[in-house]
Amino acid sequence: MSRPFKCRRIHSNPRFDYFKPRAIPLSMLEEVTLTVDEFEAIRLADNNSMYQEEAAKKMNVSRQTFGNIIKSAHEKIADALINGKAIKIEGGVYKLAGQQMFLCCECKCSWEIAQKTGKPYECPYCRSRNIHSHKSDKGGDNNSG
Ligand SMILES: [Zn+2]
Repeated sequence: MSRPFKCRRIHSNPRFDYFKPRAIPLSMLEEVTLTVDEFEAIRLADNNSMYQEEAAKKMNVSRQTFGNIIKSAHEKIADALINGKAIKIEGGVYKLAGQQMFLCCECKCSWEIAQKTGKPYECPYCRSRNIHSHKSDKGGDNNSG
């Protein structure tokens, strides 16, 4: 009866992951952290002028969830602009530093993590342990292991 957690689908990682007001040393700055799914919501709805309903479909979330994501994103950005804070984009299940991609065979999610952290124990979305590392080159999706 419980609904499965829906993966938030991200088209691509942000190209820029840090913004700061000029001429203020980093050590004196407060930071707000925009998660990658919040960034993606901004990209779709604000930068691509997509309707929320359409954007929600793209991200594989409900319209209400999308509304929450983008509201949170707007609040963070407003806070940064008005109060002179830096914006860092990272987190959620997507790691920007990630070099290794993993796929979940249960919910078909994919995510990236830094290689040094090793293989994750379970899917961050559905907690399945049926996960496989995904090589960037083709082939080899049929490992038994
Ligand atoms: Zn999963």
